[in-house]
Amino acid sequence: MDRRRFLQLTTAAAAAGWALLERAGVFDGEDSKARGVHPDIWSVLSDLTVMDSHEHQEEESTRLKRPVDFMEYLRHYALSDFITAGLPSSHVAMLNDPNLAPEDKWRLLAPYWDAVKNTGYVRAARIAVRRIHGVPDIGPSTVGQISEELQKNNRPGYVRRVYAEICRIEVGQVNALEPNTIYRAQTDPNLFLQDISGLRLMLPYLAVQTAQEESGEELGDLASYERAVNWYFERYAGEASAVKNQCAYLRSLSFDDVPRDVAERLYARWRRDRRSLAHSELKALGDYSWNYIVRVAGEHGLVVKIHTGYLAGNNSLEFARIRPAQLTTLLRRFPNVKFDLFHMGYPFQHEVCAMVKQYANAYVDLTWAPIVNPAGTIQFIKQFVSSCPMTKLFAFGGDYRSVDPVYGHLWITKHVVGVALTQAYEEGLLGLDDAVRAARLFLRDNVAKVFEVAKRREVLRKRLGS
Ligand SMILES: [Zn+2]
Repeated sequence: MDRRRFLQLTTAAAAAGWALLERAGVFDGEDSKARGVHPDIWSVLSDLTVMDSHEHQEEESTRLKRPVDFMEYLRHYALSDFITAGLPSSHVAMLNDPNLAPEDKWRLLAPYWDAVKNTGYVRAARIAVRRIHGVPDIGPSTVGQISEELQKNNRPGYVRRVYAEICRIEVGQVNALEPNTIYRAQTDPNLFLQDISGLRLMLPYLAVQTAQEESGEELGDLASYERAVNWYFERYAGEASAVKNQCAYLRSLSFDDVPRDVAERLYARWRRDRRSLAHSELKALGDYSWNYIVRVAGEHGLVVKIHTGYLAGNNSLEFARIRPAQLTTLLRRFPNVKFDLFHMGYPFQHEVCAMVKQYANAYVDLTWAPIVNPAGTIQFIKQFVSSCPMTKLFAFGGDYRSVDPVYGHLWITKHVVGVALTQAYEEGLLGLDDAVRAARLFLRDNVAKVFEVAKRREVLRKRLGS
């Protein structure tokens, strides 16, 4: 048998095998198979358009400049589970090498596939691939086809096609991660709103050069730093989606009330020689600046988003600095500011549930939690609907840098919400009508209202002239 014929036969056999497995229900994640969800609830979840409260999406112009292959689906975040399962981190560079063939990349991943294929991260990738490429799964016989299609379609309009048409997302709120970006002023207003980066604006993590160049302030003393902060809010607060801070990756979430004269002296020393400040002094400087940013955000009516709980990546998680409960003093200090507590605070979701119940200015954002721990998120939603006001939860944020896996994350989020609401209904925690109403609030209406999405979009479109 020649090689070509052999390949045809093995591909056909693989396809038949996939079809059998599929019929046997081995694969979940199909739109038609929302197991465990009441049909009335699933019908609302599958019909509605979604408001996405958190992304790191690149602009399409950036995507078009780089080669793409099937790793777009796995790089952010699925690769972390492969590493936890034993993939040597030295293989990551090879998996990111555009010159390595998809089949060779698959050979690096294959030894860990069975261990990780059912985690939320990896399922999100598999579900997206099934929907977008019509293949049964990611595997040795499909990575080539997926890669080829992605590269062929890497043309203007692709991001819109996936994000707006396939995912049916009305608008996403983007926390831009390009180095030193405080606010991404050039964006596609038909897809995105942009967050002001609280991390790159707070001390000592301030993107100094960007802030100097954009605001025109020298940043020589604390007053000029404060003017620079004001500049960003005066210029962009009307169109920005929120101010977002993920400093839990770098420091604790407890923010003391530091007097201005103390901060002034610390700031002067920091500008002269940043290494002269002790850890506690850097924290105090950060505390002062974050309190200042939150106050200004509040004056401009912007929601403050804060990363709480679990950290992305591998072999770095430590629990002391990520606890949502550390934020209670901040919630009391700024009663008129709305705080959006990210990621359900996982694994401290009980703290978040209690905070959202008690504090009028606290909201919970599941973003990312439905793929970090799908079953844990189902439990959380049941606890939330039976203890907190329905208006205080945002369910979906893709939290990805590229558009490709968003569909899978969204599908899992809808499924998780659907299962939780179905169970809550069946267990007598709420009526079916209220479960249906909650689905709409969580995936769309709460975000539209709390973030004033329509108003902000209008301002952004006006500035960009579109
Ligand atoms: Zn994020």
